[in-house]
Amino acid sequence: MSFQQDPSEVLARLGALREGDAPTHGGRVLSYVYDSGRAELDELAAGAARLVQPVNGLDPTTFTSVAVMERELVAFAREAFHGDAEVVGSATSGGTESCLLAVKTARDVWRAAGGTGRPRLVAPSTVHAAFHKAAELFDLELELVPVSAYDGRPDPAAFAERLGPDVALAVVSAPSYPFASLDPVAEIAAFAEAAGVPLHVDACIGGFALAFWPEPLPAWDFRVPGVTSLSADLHKYGYAPKGVSVLLTRGRDRQRHQYFATTGWPGYPVVNPTLAGSKPAGPLAAAWAITQALGRPGFAELTAEAARATAAIIDAVRGIAGLRLVGEPIGPLLAVESDLDVEPEQRVDPHRWADAALAAGWQLQLQPGFAQPGGAALPRTAHLTVTPVTERVLPELLPALVGAADAVRGLPPIDGAAVLGELLAARPELAAALLPSAEGGAGAAGPLEPSSDQAAALLGSLGLLGGEAPLATRLAPVLALVEVLPRPLTERLLVELLARAVEPVEAS
Ligand SMILES: *Cc1c(COP(=O)(O)O)cnc(C)c1O
Repeated sequence: MSFQQDPSEVLARLGALREGDAPTHGGRVLSYVYDSGRAELDELAAGAARLVQPVNGLDPTTFTSVAVMERELVAFAREAFHGDAEVVGSATSGGTESCLLAVKTARDVWRAAGGTGRPRLVAPSTVHAAFHKAAELFDLELELVPVSAYDGRPDPAAFAERLGPDVALAVVSAPSYPFASLDPVAEIAAFAEAAGVPLHVDACIGGFALAFWPEPLPAWDFRVPGVTSLSADLHKYGYAPKGVSVLLTRGRDRQRHQYFATTGWPGYPVVNPTLAGSKPAGPLAAAWAITQALGRPGFAELTAEAARATAAIIDAVRGIAGLRLVGEPIGPLLAVESDLDVEPEQRVDPHRWADAALAAGWQLQLQPGFAQPGGAALPRTAHLTVTPVTERVLPELLPALVGAADAVRGLPPIDGAAVLGELLAARPELAAALLPSAEGGAGAAGPLEPSSDQAAALLGSLGLLGGEAPLATRLAPVLALVEVLPRPLTERLLVELLARAVEPVEAS
């Protein structure tokens, strides 16, 4: 084989690129990554994935190992979530795909029962954005039920009022991503069942931790009658590499609507329970190997570590003047807001806090304040996802959280309107593009839908594209802008940012 570049050099370059990534191990990044702290699990996953690397997961009748692994993985999940023999399921490529398929299945069940027109999807406003995507892709009307600003949970009676024959699916979270709130699953399930509406429990983030949680929790899974489907990600608290989740469904007849099947072309019959055609078996093999090796005792051990670390962080946050927890977080995640009960000079803005923690080497996730349609304003927060490895780094993390709060206590929250004002003072020509008009769109004279070049120019003026990208290490001002700019404009700018990030670089 004649290579243009030596394979070892190619890998060396990738190694160098990886140095620039946020650290995936060691507990310094408190979102996105789920470190069990067990190198042998990563090795096991890599070994399993390598064994099936050439396999096409498309056809488990040809590659029978795929059928065996998927069946055993579904069995593990079904037992963890208290499903009986009526509960069946699939491995998917991740939480988003599990959620998309839950919605698609429900829509098709609804249509098969005679539903016509555009059905509704009812969910709390904290529901994961994957359901916004599902509603858009599968053409349902997403109806968001406001949650309490105190604990992030919807009121079951208010939720029940939204249910009706045109609702194809109701969704609750166990727990929600933004606030780690455990929605009132049993109460809403009772209303949903009475209304004949199927109910999905999105346990993507917390499912495999809640199932082994050391303290008793209200029933949130298939123990609750009326729960018709449940999603849980193995690439989160299943400690598998990215690309694997499960979707479980109660009732074979319901679940068969998940499948796409056609013999209507001259090629091989296409029968897919998931969105992809040809697909990797690696992530499935990795998750299967980890669940087989750990079993329930291994999961309980890892979950106990994450639970102790979460409790320690909660205690630490309770001890930090000016910050407070949002509600009562359930599972290994939490959100922190400013304590408005203390004097302004004692308050800590969670976004300034997160930026100060980042400067000290700890990455928290900034979540913007959110104006709920028809409900209370939800606070801006900092989100922390806690993993087993976190327990080992508590001696460094807790003082860093305290120190970051001390560094910014009393500084006012960054005001998006002021950031915008400064920007416009320096660059008045941006006003037309950035200022909300009376109609709620972008500026009257500005384009509602900026072209790619206009959007890139705007990002450049905001310091987010090209040059030094000075805002990259201070996210608080960016989030403050997200809170005040018209939403469609922000969304368009973010699309541009992500799209430009993967454009081939012109050789200069
Ligand atoms: C992560 C997550 C999802 C989406 O999962 P991906 O694996 O990122 O596609 C859905 N719901 C909740 C609650 C999540 O935390």
